[in-house]
Order: sequence, then structure tokens, then C-alpha cells
Amino acid sequence: MALGSFDRATNLRALGDTTFDVLVIGGGITGAGVALDAAARGLRTALVERDDFASGTSSKSSKLVHGGLRYLQNGDIRLVYEALRERQRLRHNAPHLVRLLPFLIPIFSKDGLINAKVARALGSAMWMYDLTGGARIGKLHKRLKKGRAVEHMPTLPVDRLAGAYLYYDAAADDARLTLALARTAALDHGAVVANHAKVVELLHEGGRVAGAVVEADGGRIEVRARSVVNATGVWSDDVRALDEGGHPDSIRPAKGIHITVPWAKVRNDIAVVVPVPKDKRSVFVVPWLPTDDGGFQLTYIGTTDTDYDGPVDDPQCTPDDVAYLLRAINAAVSEPLDEADVVGTWAGLRPLVKAATSGRTADLSRRHKVTVSEHGMVTVTGGKLTTYREMAEDAVDALVDHLEGLPRAARRCRTATLRLRGAQAVDPEATGRDRHLADRFGTEARVVHALIDGDAALGEPLVAGLPYLKAEAVYAARHEMATTVDDVLTRRTRARLQARDETAVAAGDVAALLAPELGWSAEDTAQQVAAYVALVTAERTAPGLPTTGPIPEETSP
Ligand SMILES: Cc1cc2nc3c(=O)[nH]c(=O)nc-3n(C[C@H](O)[C@H](O)[C@H](O)COP(=O)(O)OP(=O)(O)OC[C@H]3O[C@@H](n4cnc5c(N)ncnc54)[C@H](O)[C@@H]3O)c2cc1C
Repeated sequence: MALGSFDRATNLRALGDTTFDVLVIGGGITGAGVALDAAARGLRTALVERDDFASGTSSKSSKLVHGGLRYLQNGDIRLVYEALRERQRLRHNAPHLVRLLPFLIPIFSKDGLINAKVARALGSAMWMYDLTGGARIGKLHKRLKKGRAVEHMPTLPVDRLAGAYLYYDAAADDARLTLALARTAALDHGAVVANHAKVVELLHEGGRVAGAVVEADGGRIEVRARSVVNATGVWSDDVRALDEGGHPDSIRPAKGIHITVPWAKVRNDIAVVVPVPKDKRSVFVVPWLPTDDGGFQLTYIGTTDTDYDGPVDDPQCTPDDVAYLLRAINAAVSEPLDEADVVGTWAGLRPLVKAATSGRTADLSRRHKVTVSEHGMVTVTGGKLTTYREMAEDAVDALVDHLEGLPRAARRCRTATLRLRGAQAVDPEATGRDRHLADRFGTEARVVHALIDGDAALGEPLVAGLPYLKAEAVYAARHEMATTVDDVLTRRTRARLQARDETAVAAGDVAALLAPELGWSAEDTAQQVAAYVALVTAERTAPGLPTTGPIPEETSP
């Protein structure tokens, strides 16, 4: 298919001009994956996202590209096998975004005794993980003595530590991975993609779904399509209701939150799995934003997993959520952390498919489900960030079965080895700005560098204490379809998750950079800043957190 555009105005016009083979609703990882799969098969594809790419669950995950040891312990071997296969594919297809991440599982003793049963069970889970596909990453798990374990996290309580296991997984910036899929679908395979474009009605013709009415910028666009894929996560029942009439009530949202704290308080050089006292669960403690001296700026901790029946549009962290994670980390470090250390939070909803019997949400399957409605609309839900490609393949396979007159080539999925925009091997020697931009933009970092070469002021920091540069905001508006201050501070960069209060201070500067790019008036610019500050204020006050000062000088890049 012809090369496409990632310009929003151009794409909104194109939405109304063509009859597409496929219209994908929802620009999370699943929808972006479906759009790439369909476009790569040569289908005329459109993707519309009502808010921003990844603004739903796909920017709020634990950011792990993993099989999930826990699912293995639940006996879901096939899920783990498939997820580990996808992990390997992603490391090949987007090596700049998906990095290897070692994990430490500390083993604690009680009154000087190790629980031998727990240690044995962990040991066999480690072997199973390696055998199920973990070994494909090129490294096998290891048992570490106490001294080696504590080198990876010097704040661990040495008196209770008996040893540890070390194993390997991977991690990715979830929002940027989603964006990379949408850009690859559009720029390399001709998909027509637009954010801030909401489906409000479905079109039907001859008893079959035939497109949708999309609201964007105060106007309505009729998008004609021979098939429609509903990839709207926790909203998928709402879109199904537009097709089926009644609300199917098939999704059971489960809330998960994370907190970000200064790395200096934890000093873990790899991810650590920490058990939660008086609960069956563990949480991940993940170092974030590497510095050139081998340290990191931040550590994030999560996730919780609780049943949720509040509004799906805006899940918030509660004081209890934050207390739960602080309790977990404080049981594993010698110096306690408190609310004043929490510089960022995020809350997301897992789109779990309801089971016939409803137990704890943590026990519900992470498998995905593809259904085809009476009118031919394909809905794909559930799954994980890690398995998006496989979900997309299944969804597109389901729709090509129902489309007549397609060339044979359209029946074959092409994404298993398809490299994403920017894909390049990581340069282990890169440091500072070069490393920061290469990790986020891959080969496209050269465009950001060129912006700075043209205007040195764009090389200044975007948010005090974080490595993002002003050029990244300009690049986001020109090349990544960012249309709000929030798009830039929350998803093009991850600054809001990393330094909530500093981003409120930076919002005015960010708006000033975006205004000429996006044609904002002085009033639009002020509104953007006010809307952003209101968002972060709500995010801080909902869990009852104090404002945090600037993050310490010595951790700046
Ligand atoms: C706390 C937490 C931690 C997790 N950690 C991990 C992890 O570490 N690894 C992993 O593999 N998985 C993880 N997951 C799972 C993973 O994040 C989700 O499975 C995945 O992000 C779901 O993506 P999605 O595209 O299906 O949904 P979403 O990302 O929610 O996307 C749906 C999109 O549809 C849009 N939409 C809704 N209605 C409309 C409409 N009418 N018109 C247009 N667009 C619409 C929404 O705005 C939204 O952007 C985690 C999940 C949670 C909640």
C-alpha cells in the first residue's frame, strides 16, 4: 500500500473520502496493532481514537513485556508460552523500545528460617519459565547468595534476606510502543489514522455494519467501511451497544495503580519482585530513567489489582491504593518511604473478560477474546500489552473470513517480523542526550537532533529535573499528532508519571512551544494550561498526597 501521512488534518479529510476495507475503533495497543496488521496485509485501513493514542489503559500498564511468572503459577502455561514468544518478536521488531530487564526475587527468612516450600516452588517456577520460552532471551535464571542480591538493591533488609533468584524479562514505554504501531501503520502501510476522533454511531447497510459516524473538532464525519473492529478495551461494551442495541455487560474492569518515587530511596539497579505483607500478591519495583553513572532517576512500584465499579473514563488512585504500595515497599527496604516521596501516580483499568464464576480479579484469565456480532462487527478484548500482535492477528483473521473479493495475500498476517518505525539496535556505548533520544525515537532521533541543530534553545530541558528536551514537544506536534499539553507531558514524554508537580510548573512553557505549531490563540493556550493543571491537581488530591518539591539536583541528567 502507498505511504501515508501522520498529519491529523490530512487524515480527518481522508476519513470521509474513501470506503475502507476496515475501520478500527480505539487507538490503544490493541487497536493500533489491528490497524498495523490490516494495513500490512494491504487492506485499506482507518483507525480512530476518541482521545489520544494510548490514553486508555495502554499508557497505564506496568510497562513489562513479559510472560508473567504469576500466570505460570496459576497453571496458564499456554498464555505464558505465547506471551514469551511475542516478547521475543517485539525485541526483534522494536529493539529501540523494548529493552531487556533483569528481575530479582528476594527470598526472606522469618526468625532466621527460610520457608523451604516457598523457595522450592520459586525454584521450579524459574525452571518452568526458562523452559516455556524465557530462555529465548539468551540468559537462564540464577540463584544468588545474599551478598550478590543486596548489590542489586542495597536498601533490602539484610538481616531478613536469605538469598534471591535472578531472571530475565523485558520492558517498554507502553504509550510510545502504541504510538510506534499507529505511525508504522500510517506512514509505512498507508492507514488513515486520527486521534481526538470519537465514534458516536455505527452505520449499518443490508444488516451488516458498514462504518461509523465520527465526531472530531466539533464536526461529524461519516466513515464508510466494509468491516469494523471494536478495540476499545474497557469501553468495548459501549461500542457493542451501538451495534447490538442492548449493553452486553461482558467486561469486568480491574483497577491497578503505580507510584513513582526517587530512585535514591530504593537504589535498585534491576527490577525487584517484592511480596506484599498479608496478601498473596507481589509488586514490581522497577528502576526508571537511567543515568550515565549506572544509576537511575526514579523507581516505580506497582501494581495493585482491585475490582472496580467506578466511572471507567477517569480511574483515580485512592489513599488506600497508595498506602498498599507503600506498605509493600516498606516491608522490603530498611529506610521507610512515605506519601511525600510519591512524585507520580497512575491508575489504569484492565479490560478483563467476565468469567462465568467471578473470583478475585487477579485470578481472571489474561487471555483475549475475539467475537463477531450478528452484523459482522469484530470485537477484540482482554489480553495484555505483550500479546497485542497476536490479538491483532486473530481479529484481522476473523474479519477477512467475512470479507468477499479480497486477494489471497490479505489472508496472511505479516507482522511477526515486521519492524516498527525507528527500529534500530541499541548502542551500548551511547550516553546522555544521544542515549535518551535513541531509546525513545530510534532512527528518527536524527529529526529531533536536527531541530536542536537549527535552534539551540530547543536543546533545553522541557521539565525541570527530567531528561526530556523542548525539541521533543515540537517534534510531538509536527510528527506524532500531539494536540494538547497533556498529550505531550503524559504520553509523548512520560513526565507527568515521573514528576507530577514539576510538569504543572512546565505546562506554560510546553503550551508556548505548541501554540505556533498548532495555531492556538492566547486564549486557547491559557485554556490548555488550565486544563492540564486541573488534571494534575486532581491526580494529587484524589489519593491525598502532598505537593512534592523539585526532584534532587544530583539525579538530574
Ligand atoms: C495496572 C495495569 C498494569 C498492566 N501491566 C501490564 C504489563 O506490565 N504487561 C502487559 O503485557 N500488560 C499489562 N497490562 C495489560 C495491558 O495494559 C492492557 O491489556 C492493554 O493496554 C489494553 O489495551 P487496549 O488497546 O485493549 O485498551 P485501551 O488502551 O484502553 O484502548 C482502548 C481505546 O479505545 C478508545 N475508545 C473508547 N471508546 C471509543 C470511541 N467511541 N471511539 C473511538 N475510540 C474510543 C479509548 O479512548 C482507548 O484509548 C496492565 C494493565 C493494567 C490496568
